[in-house]
Formats: sequence, C-alpha cells, structure tokens
Amino acid sequence: MTQNNLEQSLKTDPSHFPMKLWVYTNYDCNLRCSYCVAESSPRAPRRAIDINTAQLIVDEAVELGFENIYFTGGEPFILDDIYAMLAYSMARVPTTVLTNAMLFRGQRLQWLKEIHSENLTVQVSLDGSCPEHHDPYRGAGTWQKTVVGIRTLQEYNFRMRISTTETPANSAHLDEICTFRRSLGIADEDHFIRPLAKRGFSNEGVEVSKQCLIPELTINAEGVYWHPLSTDPDLRVSAEIFPLSAALGHAKAEFSEISAVNATEMQEFQ
Ligand code: SF4
Repeated sequence: MTQNNLEQSLKTDPSHFPMKLWVYTNYDCNLRCSYCVAESSPRAPRRAIDINTAQLIVDEAVELGFENIYFTGGEPFILDDIYAMLAYSMARVPTTVLTNAMLFRGQRLQWLKEIHSENLTVQVSLDGSCPEHHDPYRGAGTWQKTVVGIRTLQEYNFRMRISTTETPANSAHLDEICTFRRSLGIADEDHFIRPLAKRGFSNEGVEVSKQCLIPELTINAEGVYWHPLSTDPDLRVSAEIFPLSAALGHAKAEFSEISAVNATEMQEFQ
C-alpha cells in the first residue's frame, strides 16, 4: 500500500491494521553489525522462541487472518529448529525469513534445501555492490560471504528478496547496488532500501517511535511489540504472547488513537 492509499484508508477506516506478523526467533548472530537495532552478536543472549511456541503463534496468526509471517533475529539460521518452524509456517501462510546468508553450507544448506517451497521467501541483507559500501557497518569480509550465500540460494531456486540499509557508507552509491542486484537477476520489486534507524547499537539514523511507525505486530520470547525495528520497552504492546488476539486488540486500539491525530506522520518502515 502506498502512503497516500494508507492515509486514505485510515481516513475511511481507522481500524485498518497491516496484517503482517514478525517473530524474533533469537537474538544471537554470527555477526555484530554496528547498526544492529536488535543488539545482536555472537555473545548476545539467545532469547529464543521454541518450536512449540512458534507453532502456536502460527496457528493463532492464521486464525486471526495474518497474511504474512516474517521470521527474524539475530540470525535465525543459527537455530537447529528454524527449518521446522519455517516448514510449519509456510504450509499455512506465505512466510519470509531474514538472514545474512552466510551460513548456507553443509548440514544447514541440506536442511534448507529439504524445506524449499514457493511459499518461502529468503530475505538477505546486502548494503552494497562492493565490500567498501557494505563492510563498514557489517564487518570485514561480510560482503563477499553474503554474495556467495545469495548465489547459493539462487542455485537452489529459492524465492529471494534483498534489503538494504542506507548508511553514510553507501548512500551515494544506491544506484550501483540496484545495478548489481539486477545483474544477480533480482527484480526491483524484490529490493527494499530503508534508512538507518537510531535504535540498538546504532547511534545515528532516524528516530522511531509508535507515533511515526505504521505498526507491524512483532513477537519475541518476552512479549508482543509494535514493530520489528525495535523490541525496546517503549514499543511493547503486551508482556503476554497469548492470546495473540488480545495483543492485536491493544495494538489496533492504540493505532486508531495515534492515526486519528497523526496519520500523515506515520511511515511504513521495512
Ligand atoms: S544486523 Fe542482522 S546480521 Fe547484523 S548483527 Fe544484527 S541480526 Fe546479525
């Protein structure tokens, strides 16, 4: 939905609420990106969602009419359970998993190949067409490994999207990453570019809050939140995951209140 359409929709139907659900599967990661909003790193506490909880979340989300589920972290592919979570979800609803694409080798690649589905999209973070535009915020050598991961996913015909965070290291080179991404055979509609957000490890970027974010309900092991950009306490909707219908009700009510006075300020933030 475009911003204009959304504003129109909010005027005519203030209860409109994006039915996208995010699940933070874990917070540990093989990388420690200096802009990470989740403060993930190899040493971050895992704070994992277990497989039973993930399945209950999917069941209730489908019942409530959520149209897409996104699994994120941390690096979800650190978890041995992630394949079963994705398989369960994508059998019921279009499912996306976010990744740095650096772990697709050996047994992990084998497990991923076994769950291949047209209902699964793998969304890879790539910030540049060369290491100089990607590595400053994500770590030395990461561009090269991520591109290898993208090519591996393509070799096995996974549906793929690219997400790019605009930073001072790449903002003058966004055309180059679009050209590079097209050279990989990835379409324009499968590429998102979002600004840096001032959350987590990042001390630069745009300030975000409930007042300026169009909500996308987000779950972690500790509760339900307004948006996947942050699971800081100010964005918490509920300390209880279940019933998800209750958290959805709270978020809808708050969204109606905020959008009644603030619709023009609210943004989608990929
Ligand atoms: S931005 Fe993504 S890849 Fe980087 S540390 Fe955070 S979770 Fe890991």
